[in-house]
Amino acid sequence: MSENMMMACHCKDCQIFSGAPFRAVAVASAENVEIKGEAKEYVKVADSGNKRIQAFCGDCGTQLYATDLEKTMFNIRAGFLEQHHQIVPKKHIFGSSTAAWLANIDEQVWVTAGPNSEPLKS
Ligand SMILES: [Zn+2]
Repeated sequence: MSENMMMACHCKDCQIFSGAPFRAVAVASAENVEIKGEAKEYVKVADSGNKRIQAFCGDCGTQLYATDLEKTMFNIRAGFLEQHHQIVPKKHIFGSSTAAWLANIDEQVWVTAGPNSEPLKS
């Protein structure tokens, strides 16, 4: 997968659906996407009136992709991809709705695992 196809989306829908400040997405056209099994799909109507299919696993709720109603282009949710630590987003979109605290994320307290675990960095 090409790195320039990776983006971080800071739109409000991504924040609400993911519970996180942004989602990493890999953009792929339909001919490059193979779906095995059946995804649960929900059609979300954006503030603009644009309709987007939001797909997730019906068993565990893992977010899988968003796509247009004709399923021509897919925004694959990078969190479930095996390579998600290797593919770095090249562009941050919907920056106007980003969480302000992300700008200082390096100054916040980081620990290695759970809340009472060892500091990750000092
Ligand atoms: Zn988004």
